[in-house]
Amino acid sequence: MTSPSTPVSFEFFPTKTDAGHEKLLAAARVLAAEKPEFFSVTYGAGGSTRDRTLNTVLQLDGEVKVPTAPHLSCVGDSKEELRSLLKQYRDAGIKRIVALRGDLPSGMGQASGELRYANELVEFIRAETGDHFTIEVAAYPESHPQARNFEVDLANFVRKAKAGADSAITQYFFNADCYFQFVERVRQAGVEIPIIPGIMPITNYSKLARFSDACGAEIPRWIRKQLEAYGDDSDSIVAFGTEVISSMCQQLLDGGAPGLHFYTLNQAEPSLAVWHNLRG
Ligand code: FAD
Repeated sequence: MTSPSTPVSFEFFPTKTDAGHEKLLAAARVLAAEKPEFFSVTYGAGGSTRDRTLNTVLQLDGEVKVPTAPHLSCVGDSKEELRSLLKQYRDAGIKRIVALRGDLPSGMGQASGELRYANELVEFIRAETGDHFTIEVAAYPESHPQARNFEVDLANFVRKAKAGADSAITQYFFNADCYFQFVERVRQAGVEIPIIPGIMPITNYSKLARFSDACGAEIPRWIRKQLEAYGDDSDSIVAFGTEVISSMCQQLLDGGAPGLHFYTLNQAEPSLAVWHNLRG
């Protein structure tokens, strides 16, 4: 069981339509009742969601009244564009940022940003704004998909943390052991920042499989087989998925994970079902 003070946070993506935005707001209002430590809102690398991310962050922070962190990626933005966004967030009283390299969508060509990796963005934010922002960075217990190997990726994570990150959120995974091993290796490297597991509720097999292939999250065979067997029976997929994810979260918290960060995909229910299972 989690204690009522176990930190939880929820991530949203900015939508293209008004209807989508209303759904996001409705989900956020429901999740706000859980008193999360923060919400976060993703950013389309290259600035494709610059205004929508900004507006969503300001609305969640100001109207839904949960401290909200914008994601910010450096891969396709100039220093001037990043500086301007940082100023707008700072002026609006935003205190936390998720700092990323990002991935340019296919078709946008080569990265055009002046900063190439997330460690450079963390250094830039610190140089521009001092200690104003709490900086979160991404972590990959199963390795970043482009990394040559685990050791190289670990060294890059350590560099990013030492550049001035306060905390990290992991890519999602379905195997608690990989999280514990990653944390152990990070600690051995002398980095003590909290590493919060990123949790992806399971609601749909084909989308999850596609997404997991792209971001390098392994779906264990026993989970895949079971989800495949359910076919179109989405009630069974959700029931099984909730059970599997709740039990993994319990293992994570029992093993010392300092909180949970849910990838909500703008839906309250799947994350809440897991969170409420943990709260008993
Ligand atoms: P980095 O830490 O820069 O790492 C990227 C790759 O480069 C890794 O393989 C790493 O080993 C290597 N590397 C790192 N530093 C160096 C260096 N100095 N020299 C050489 N190699 C290096 N994407 C978005 O576009 N928008 C989002 O809002 C978004 N939110 C995310 C939130 C979370 C919690 C997570 C886990 C991921 C998110 N992503 C998002 C995806 C992320 O942008 C991609 O995974 C991207 O490919 C890497 O970003 P990063 O910040 O982890 O990059």
